[in-house]
Parts: sequence; C-alpha cells; structure tokens
Amino acid sequence: MTRTVSILGATGSVGTSTLDLIERNRDAFSVVALTANSDVAGLAAAAKRTGARFAAIGDTRLGGALADALAGTGIETAAGEAALAEAAARDADWTMAAIVGCAGLKPVMAALRRGATVALANKESLVSAGDVMMQAAQAHGATLLPVDSEHNAIFQCLDHANLAAVGRIILTASGGPFRTWSLTEMAAVTPERAVQHPNWSMGAKISIDSATMMNKGLELIEAHHLFPVGHDRIEILVHPQSVIHSMVEYVDGSTLAQLGTPDMRTPIAHALAWPERMAAPAERLDLARIGSLSFEAPDAVRFPALALARGAVEAGGARPAILNAANEQAVAAFLARRIGFLDIAAIVAKVLDRYDPSSPTSLDEVLAVDAEARRLAMEMMEVKAA
Ligand code: NAD
Ligand code: MG
Repeated sequence: MTRTVSILGATGSVGTSTLDLIERNRDAFSVVALTANSDVAGLAAAAKRTGARFAAIGDTRLGGALADALAGTGIETAAGEAALAEAAARDADWTMAAIVGCAGLKPVMAALRRGATVALANKESLVSAGDVMMQAAQAHGATLLPVDSEHNAIFQCLDHANLAAVGRIILTASGGPFRTWSLTEMAAVTPERAVQHPNWSMGAKISIDSATMMNKGLELIEAHHLFPVGHDRIEILVHPQSVIHSMVEYVDGSTLAQLGTPDMRTPIAHALAWPERMAAPAERLDLARIGSLSFEAPDAVRFPALALARGAVEAGGARPAILNAANEQAVAAFLARRIGFLDIAAIVAKVLDRYDPSSPTSLDEVLAVDAEARRLAMEMMEVKAA
C-alpha cells in the first residue's frame, strides 16, 4: 500500500534526506506537496522527479518563476506564506516538518489541525509554541514523531505507557566544533569555521546552534514537550563521537540507548516507516573501528546558551519563544558578519532580561511574542554596531 507524504522544507538538508529515502522506495510512497523558501530550481526538480501534486514556494516574488519551471507538468504551484500552510493542510498520511526556524510554525499547526502524522525536524516551532502545539496535537488527534536524532533515539528507548518508571532522560551532545576551545579563541571565529560540524552535515542555522550549544538548549525544551517526565529529569551529556544519540534511564537502574552513525536518514526512516521499519542506506556502525566512546559534562561557562535554555524551560510561559526568536535573529546577524560568535548568546540573554510578557495561550500570541523579541534583538544589535 502506498503512503501519501508531504515535505515542508523539501530543499534543505533534512528535506533532501527525506526525498532520498522516498525516491529509493518509489512504490511505497506517493508525494502530495513539497515546499521551499527560495530555491525554485531545487523545488521544481524534486517535484518533477517525485511526481508531486503541489509545489509551494515561500517567497511570493518567486511564484511566477516556479509556475514557469513546472509549466506543462500538471503540477499545481502557489507562492507565499498561505501557500506553505496550504501545502501542510492538504491531506497526506505523513508530513515532514523540515522548515528551519519559527517560519515553520504556521505550516506545522496547519498539519496538526487536520490530525496528521507529523514527523518533526523543525524544533524551533515546538520550542516557541510548545504548549499551543501539544494542545493542538491532542485536540485534533495528531501524532508527532520526533526526527531530531536525539529525540528519535529517546522515542525508540522510551516505555511510553510507563513514564513514571523513567528516572532520567540523558540527551547527548557532540559539543560542536568548539568543544575544547577557549572563550578567547571562540571570540574570533568566522561563520565559515563555525558551520563546520565535526560529525554531522546540516543546514547553516542548526550548525551555528551546535557550535554555541544553543542547539542542545533548544533540544532540552523540545524533549520537555515531547516526553513529559519533568524537565529536571532531562540531563545533557557531552559525547563527542555522536554514536549514542541519547539514552533513557529507568528507576531500576537500566539505561537504554540508541546508537547509529551520524546520518539523518536513519531517524527519518524510523519516522517514515513507523510503526514499522524500512531499510535506510546509512553506513553501519563499526564499533571496533571507533574503538572507544567518551563522555564529559557540558561546560556552562564557555557555553552560556545551555543555562539560558535551562532557565527558559524552568520558567516556561513566553521564555522559550523569546529565547528562540532572539537566537534566530542573532544567528542570522552572525552569519551576515554583523556580530561576533560570542555575541549570539549575549544578545539572547539581553532580550530575555528586557522582555517578560505573560504566557501566550494561542498561536497568534506566540507569534506576537516572537515578533517583539526579534524586534528587540535587532534594536540591540543595531546599537552595538553603531
Ligand atoms: P536547511 O537550512 O538545510 O533547510 C531549511 C528548509 O526550510 C529549506 O527547504 C528552506 O527552503 C526552508 N525555509 C527556510 N526558511 C524558510 C522560510 N522563511 N519559510 C519557508 N521555508 C523556509 O535546514 P535543515 O538543516 O534541513 O534543518 C531543518 C530543520 O530541521 C531545523 O529546524 C533544524 O533544527 C532541524 N534539524 C536538522 C537536522 C540536520 O541534520 N540538518 C538535524 C536535526 C534537526
Ligand atoms: Mg539533534
């Protein structure tokens, strides 16, 4: 039986890995909708290859170019923010949410509201709107399958019916490219250096988040929503080889781990075939060659993003949305060479200090908090640059 699928953010790192799995199993899947932000050529090519029914581009100015690129194919096209939400709202058995940033929030909500099975890579949406998203998922009978490798590992190790038996969730972190660097060394890093992750090949934003370890902070908040065991039971452990993708410890002292090579096609395949399994082409683990695995506690002084995220999840309310929005703006400014590497966490801390609204209770309220936190971050960065 073929499964109908849609991919939001089809031209990115997770999106293309998802397409790879689907194209290796053409008989098993049929593509409903694909989206991208600005890569018309990449989107059109993927739509043609997979025979997608609908292709949506986020940038409204590119609607004409997309229509031209797909003219005569019978593939329907549309452009703009509403088109992305429409792609998510179209009926598909399985929807991959792989847009980067809070830009993915409205499309994810559109998919949840039709009670869809959503494979979630887009962690920023859950960090910003965790309570609102989880409530929508529950109200509409939607299923969220974690694709982030750590959360997919936890999902596989967790006794979902028996959360009271969980002692701790141990979220592993590679430590990123600057795990052993001093603050002085980190102060001078360029975007080119910071995007070079030691183990994973990923989009620019998450690569910078890995370098600041804000990625692990966002993942702590993501885990708190996906696995309600209490955030004080979620610990971060640095494991530079990225072989163990995370662990669950039970009250009897048993600890279960999921292992694999760092290839996103494994967790994506898990979500794509769930509750069954499908073959994925990731390299197999050769533990004899790897030889040894090492572990260390994270360094709170060199990676202040961890404490900012921990504080945000403890306080709840609007704090995670503010943390995420300020971080998105600061990462974009760092990539554009307008601020230094260490300024990223400093800007996030300042925005959290300056802005403390009440808890958002709807999607619109989350988006309003997100917009104001971005505005404040921009304002602070302009003052700094002047
Ligand atoms: P990427 O930058 O490679 O791709 C992002 C995708 O989102 C592209 O298809 C792009 O067209 C689309 N997009 C970007 N901005 C948009 C906007 N404003 N509106 C609509 N679409 C937009 O990113 P990625 O590395 O594939 O990451 C995607 C998400 O998955 C992120 O949330 C990331 O944290 C998460 N994730 C990625 C990995 C990984 O290995 N790359 C691992 C775990 C989680
Ligand atoms: Mg991850």
